[in-house]
Amino acid sequence: MNYEEYINAIEKLNLYSYHYYVLDDPLTTDEVYDKLYHEVLEFEQKHPDKLLKNSPTQRVGDVISTGFTKAAHLSRMWSLEDVFDADGLEKWLTKTYKLDKNITFYCEPKFDGASLNLVYEDGVLVKGITRGDGEIGELITQNVKTIRSIPLTIEHKNLLEIRGEVVIFKEEFERINAARLSLGEAVFANPRNAAAGSLRQLDSSVTAARNLVFLPYGVGENSLEHKLLSEKMEYIYSLGFRKPPERAVCKGAHEIESIYNQMAHDRDSYSMMLDGMVVKVNEIASQIDMGYTVKVPRFAVAYKFPAVEKITTVKEIVLQVGRTGAVTPVAIVEPTDIDGVVVERATLHNFDEIERKDIRLGDKVIILRSGDVIPKIIKVLTHERTGSELSYVRPTHCPVCGSELLDEGVLLKCQNLECEARVVNSIIYFASKPCLNIDGLGNKIVEALFTSGLVKSVVDLFDLTLEKLLELEGFKEKKSQNLLDALQNAKGCEYWRFINSLGIEHIGEVASKTLSEAFGFTFVNATKEQLIACDGIGEEMAESVLEFVRVNAETIAKLQNILQPLEPVKREEAEENPFKAKTVVLTGSMSQSRTEVKELLESLGAKVSGSVSKKTDFLIYGEDAGSKHDKAMELGVTCLNEEEMQALLRG
Ligand code: NAD
Repeated sequence: MNYEEYINAIEKLNLYSYHYYVLDDPLTTDEVYDKLYHEVLEFEQKHPDKLLKNSPTQRVGDVISTGFTKAAHLSRMWSLEDVFDADGLEKWLTKTYKLDKNITFYCEPKFDGASLNLVYEDGVLVKGITRGDGEIGELITQNVKTIRSIPLTIEHKNLLEIRGEVVIFKEEFERINAARLSLGEAVFANPRNAAAGSLRQLDSSVTAARNLVFLPYGVGENSLEHKLLSEKMEYIYSLGFRKPPERAVCKGAHEIESIYNQMAHDRDSYSMMLDGMVVKVNEIASQIDMGYTVKVPRFAVAYKFPAVEKITTVKEIVLQVGRTGAVTPVAIVEPTDIDGVVVERATLHNFDEIERKDIRLGDKVIILRSGDVIPKIIKVLTHERTGSELSYVRPTHCPVCGSELLDEGVLLKCQNLECEARVVNSIIYFASKPCLNIDGLGNKIVEALFTSGLVKSVVDLFDLTLEKLLELEGFKEKKSQNLLDALQNAKGCEYWRFINSLGIEHIGEVASKTLSEAFGFTFVNATKEQLIACDGIGEEMAESVLEFVRVNAETIAKLQNILQPLEPVKREEAEENPFKAKTVVLTGSMSQSRTEVKELLESLGAKVSGSVSKKTDFLIYGEDAGSKHDKAMELGVTCLNEEEMQALLRG
């Protein structure tokens, strides 16, 4: 990097920072930002005389937006130095050991959210301030008071600043985005942006509706006398703050690496997004000796995880036709490695979303892959367009059968019941795990059976014979016999599986169980009133059942005759107990599997539901309980941990 490039890089980084910190709408990925930042840092280390004052290496955060009142922190807030691999950690450790040979390290997750400072006076929360530029931030006390994991009062009476990260749990992020999509609103790019944007709202009721969570990671001004950070943090948690899902005191590189690998491996299973692990010197006296640079503490480092956001290019947009006829667009992107997985496809949600984001073929985009969910395009880098990108035209005809599509705005639908894609996907669905769970009926085999003409509907599956299968390419005797056995085994299935396998729109596993329990074999005769009277069955679902039965009565009877499902037995009336006829929700990880707890409760006559509402009687929670617990608390639902549940049962 020469001086001119250095100046340009600073300009670019400052622009990125403004979009990231002030507008909560980044122009690029953290990876791109970090790479350029480190080039700038390297230049400055080689040419300290040329260092510019406006360099991002010289300050924390960015300017503060004007909408809020400003407030000064009692003691400064900082950024963190970051390292990206074992080599970087080793260098940091060598540097740190030079300052003190006998130190140990406190390791905890690096939460990917927005930094927040809480000021408690006389045990009362008096201020909530964003990090801002480290000295002055935005005063957002009213918003902060809506966050349920922030106690409004604490036992500790001396002046205390508690620092932490405000995050949105992944589940809550998906919920918010799904709700926004259904209202035709733009979705948030990622949980970090959603958390930062929700925290800095001028209207506190918007913040309140977003279920933000505060995770403390340290203190500012304080009179605590603990000698170790680990003790100090335990004290903070004991005041009523949330603990991180993982924390450990480590001795040297080996132990740090081991917990880092564990955390990186488990990152998808945590409720919140993590972008690394923070390693801090555990001895407070050594921390004080080491002190700070202009921007970061010398006693801490962020050991980053591989990035989950990458920049790639949209090559094509293809259409998928589901079993219900819904047509969904999928982006085919330039293959990109994201945390060890090569991503080639990304979801685009729906056609409105393509138009809203104005995604064009050839566009550079930011793609996010987190956990098992399908990668998503979260941002179009419109400022990188060259002019050669092509706008996408909404399709008018089914890409599979060619029939005209029904355009319902957000959704496009192929209405041809015989469309190959619809039939093939409904057979795949019929055989899937939560339906008849038929081994050996995956996509490829169903397509082969369909194109051969042997199977044109699920009923045809049961007319297959060994002779017929052996005529097909790739079907040897063993494979064919296995398939026939699996089809045979599907007979005598539970009745809810039978209902679920029919693929009635809006009727999934839970509703199928409800219908099976409520009506048994007579579900085809249920009236709208009877259907709606069932817990969890709304008007739209009831109408969908009635319409399906009206059109498919003959097929249902035929299938029922073939499959001979078991008539559901009415559960024996449970003896009197505190959970009988109560609605219970389970959340968090428990000492036994949730399925076991669910079965126990069901045997006691409880109804176990998936979501918390006003109708919920009990929430039973395990470790790392998330937004369901918060919601239950908010609604005044009785919350019990496993032990309390057992105690209640013992009377
Ligand atoms: P940072 O986010 O890398 O690290 C410091 C912050 O980490 C702290 O202020 C705190 O809020 C948070 N944190 C989370 N868990 C913590 C824990 N356990 N202990 C201590 N702190 C914890 O630093 P930064 O200065 O806020 O931001 C710099 C980073 O932001 C860059 O490395 C880059 O990844 C990103 N950034 C991206 C863009 C972009 O355009 N994509 C622009 C600017 C900055």
